[in-house]
Amino acid sequence: MISERMAKMASGGSAIRAMFEEGKRLAAIYGKENVFDFSIGNPSFPPPDSVKEAIIDIVTNEDPMYVHGYPANAGYPEVRRAVAESLNRRFGTGYTEGNIMMTVGAACGLSCTMFTLLNPGDEVICVSPYFFEYNNYVTTPGGKVVVVPARAEDFMPDVDAIAAAVTPRTKAVILNSPNNPTGVIYPAELLKSLSDMLLEKGREYGTVIYVISDEPYRELAYDGAEVPWMPSIVANCIVCYSWSKSLSLPGERIGYVVVPSDIAEGQLIFDAEVVANRMLGFVNAPSLMELVVARCVDEATNIAGYDANRQLLYNGLRELGFESTYPAGAFYLWMKTPIDEAEFVQKAKSHNLLLVPGSNFGTPGNVRLAYCVSPDMIRRSLTAFAALAEECGLKK
Ligand code: PLP
Repeated sequence: MISERMAKMASGGSAIRAMFEEGKRLAAIYGKENVFDFSIGNPSFPPPDSVKEAIIDIVTNEDPMYVHGYPANAGYPEVRRAVAESLNRRFGTGYTEGNIMMTVGAACGLSCTMFTLLNPGDEVICVSPYFFEYNNYVTTPGGKVVVVPARAEDFMPDVDAIAAAVTPRTKAVILNSPNNPTGVIYPAELLKSLSDMLLEKGREYGTVIYVISDEPYRELAYDGAEVPWMPSIVANCIVCYSWSKSLSLPGERIGYVVVPSDIAEGQLIFDAEVVANRMLGFVNAPSLMELVVARCVDEATNIAGYDANRQLLYNGLRELGFESTYPAGAFYLWMKTPIDEAEFVQKAKSHNLLLVPGSNFGTPGNVRLAYCVSPDMIRRSLTAFAALAEECGLKK
């Protein structure tokens, strides 16, 4: 018999992945052009040309034993230096390679960080709606997720509500800005008041409460919106970054963790992160990709393209009477369901519209639409949405 925990997990699965698979099934029946799959956050633009050029140059001209051999568990020192220098240029920080561990994407960074910080029974606060994989990262080392709803009016973290949820067992708060699924970006003043409150609570309980900044969407901000560098504002902050979205490399599994030197037990945390990377079986981030991203640290994806999608979808749905937030960043639209969520998702599916239920982010009564799709698909989907709106009794 396999473990009871895994038996349960295997029969559950991921709702987003299930929807993604359903999209493929429907496409085989109705034709790809007649299925409108808004389920998964797979980037719709190819990586910048510099990525391809770097891959070709590295595999052609560098020593294969270096390119494909085991790097250090934390990653190649020169790659970590390139990442640190890029952050220092952009955010005025003073990081060295000793603050950077290369990871197998943000998922690995978050897993290693939870494994490093949590004793069984420790609590981690997540602001709902939130990326549900956090449940796995937190519970695997025995932690407990404590869900605190975001402010209803703007989906920002509710500092008072978080304060009320902090206990002597609170080890960390996970923040994700720009946010999946709401698209909001947390402003500096709010982060400062959250940090002050956590420091105060820590003093009261004689504990340290870490803030984990999960930021795969840092580069995806629209209208020139600023995404504050969290460790400059928030005490005891660890950053988990990923190039999955910013360079369109989700399948390549590459990212990094920043452990600033001035956080509580910073050196011990960094050393433990590296051990966790090995213990959890990641061992090291992919060596070729480490070398590639080191050459592309200052590149960006097609933000203007995602911005055009954002406006097309938001305006199209608003005209049909749907209510959603106008995302400031990331590539998701968070929309209220005009009828019961499950019924709405089912009805949408009958029009070949694949949407992720808000329950999968801990907040029923909503759906998430990933608009990292072709603009053409968005345009065509609006006819299906119009039929759906009519069925739900929205204005014509
Ligand atoms: N965190 C959030 C909020 C995400 O949306 C995702 C992926 O969609 C991840 C983490 C995991 O990213 P990665 O592909 O880098 O593991």
